[in-house]
Amino acid sequence: MCGIVGYIGFRSVSDVLLEGLHRLEYRGYDSAGIAVMQEDHIAVRKRAGRVNELSQAVKLHPVESKVGIGHTRWATHGETTDENSHPHLGGNGEVAIVHNGVIENYDSLRNQLMEMGYVFKSQTDTEVVAHLIAHHLAEQTRLDSEEPCVATCLRAIELTLDRLKGTFGICALFQSCPETIIAARSGSPLVIGVGKDEFFLASDASPLIGYTSDVVYLADNEIAVLEPNSMKIAHRTTGSVQPSIQTLDQVSADIELGDFPHYMLKEIFEQPQSIANALRGRFDDGEGTAVIGGLNLTAQQLRTIDRVVLTACGTSWHAGLVGEYLLEEFARLPTEVEYASELRYRNPPITDRTLVFSITQSGETADTLAAMRECKRKGHPTLAICNVVGSTIAREADGGIYLHAGPEIGVASTKAFTSQVTVLTLLALYLGRMRHLSYPAGKRIIKQLKMMPEKIEEALKCHEQVQEIADKYSQFNNFLYLGRLYNFPVALEGALKLKEISYIHAEGYPAAEMKHGPIALVDEQTPSFFIVPRGGIQPKVISNMEEVKARKGPVIAVATEGDREVERIADDVITVPDVEDYLQPLVCSIPLQLFSYHVALLRGCNVDRPRNLAKSVTVE
Ligand code: GLU
Repeated sequence: MCGIVGYIGFRSVSDVLLEGLHRLEYRGYDSAGIAVMQEDHIAVRKRAGRVNELSQAVKLHPVESKVGIGHTRWATHGETTDENSHPHLGGNGEVAIVHNGVIENYDSLRNQLMEMGYVFKSQTDTEVVAHLIAHHLAEQTRLDSEEPCVATCLRAIELTLDRLKGTFGICALFQSCPETIIAARSGSPLVIGVGKDEFFLASDASPLIGYTSDVVYLADNEIAVLEPNSMKIAHRTTGSVQPSIQTLDQVSADIELGDFPHYMLKEIFEQPQSIANALRGRFDDGEGTAVIGGLNLTAQQLRTIDRVVLTACGTSWHAGLVGEYLLEEFARLPTEVEYASELRYRNPPITDRTLVFSITQSGETADTLAAMRECKRKGHPTLAICNVVGSTIAREADGGIYLHAGPEIGVASTKAFTSQVTVLTLLALYLGRMRHLSYPAGKRIIKQLKMMPEKIEEALKCHEQVQEIADKYSQFNNFLYLGRLYNFPVALEGALKLKEISYIHAEGYPAAEMKHGPIALVDEQTPSFFIVPRGGIQPKVISNMEEVKARKGPVIAVATEGDREVERIADDVITVPDVEDYLQPLVCSIPLQLFSYHVALLRGCNVDRPRNLAKSVTVE
């Protein structure tokens, strides 16, 4: 959450910062601001609301130079006001900072600083950091009895960081060192773009695209000092670090909307391609198994595994549930799916024969990262299923599988979910073929998987049908989503999508569980979405549909093409292509994604920037 951007070099800084903030806006959009070096002071422009409003403010009161920092906020402490927007100034404007994360001990630090006479203008935890840096800067300057230089500023930052508890990515500008940006991270991501005579800083690589493809990912507890011609990185305890420059392979088109009105719709329609990318090069037809190269464990080690733990948050957790069903069916491996936010504080029995996978789109999810680190600390190999190359989880995991889905910018995850499910299917096939799954069964799974991009293409043909159904139901305020076996996680995910972007109350349940409580909600005003494709225990789900109909509950069904029985019972039917049970989550998710998209539009909601949410949850 929150986007940080910084620039030092020869370009017009406000253009670079504002463009960067636009690209990072999906990470937080409560407010935005920039601070740029002027000749003798740091100028700040900031506004509650969207980056466009900041751009207007900058147009009215331009600020120009070649050095600056910017921020787009996802508020944790203090409302979304102009005053609480970042950057925050420390002391009398000697320092400006932008911050991603949470300072857990801000209250006691704030009291101490107020006693010393520092005046607070905001309710944020961040302002504490700004004043603390100013305080240590003044202290160091007194000690040196000289004007502050880069070394003094760095020392002030180090002394400040020593006193902070919590997570942060911080960028700072100093009035006394106009040609310097200092950045530090502990928990929140920061990446440095390396150009010729210029450097960029950002929370993720998107603002760098088009400027440079050489990047350095800052690791936890590292501090970077950037000047137009030099980049110095040091670890807070181990000292100077030789930066490892990596190459970005993203291009501008990956983060552009093209002809689509919203990123969410673009990403829904990218799914045939993103699934094809997840599958590419990952079949061993000769052996009837998957090729999973990056686990960094030998076949022998993998064969000794007797349990799998999948840990994740939100949509990735739902993908994990599909993974549980797949791993237990194909590989007969007992599998548990744990909320990362729970796992990080629990002490479940994980043995050296347990395989722990963290599932995350961004690779930065704070709880997932913490859960992974906790498992690592206990000595277990940690693996990740992740989309963003170079992200913290991707770098810290012992091995893993990339989704190759391309940037996902819509806050409501769509293509990352189906890619996660695809990769988990490959993993289950791979581990299954090491165990009980026969060669013909493996071959059959490969054959079905290869058809998926085409099947998704077909599933997307329901778009118009879904639009009409969304029109009919957009004014209802409560929904149930019901499915069984592989379609239970689909029901959860469908309900989550509706909540996230339409702000409609929706609950997902295993269809049969309905009788143990949720059926009490059923009436003419509470539609139920049944995910009821052919196969599995479809007749049982059809009985559940009848039970809802008997109580006058409107029924919308996601069903296989030509299923007359479902058509007879349901009020509305959306059809999907026929696929094997274990692949149904892929096709059945499509209409549910489209439904939530269209309902959100009809209700006037901002699809790509839903209220209170942000992409990439980097705070606990
Ligand atoms: N905790 C800070 C605030 O509420 C930073 C939040 C963020 O990461 O955007 O302003």
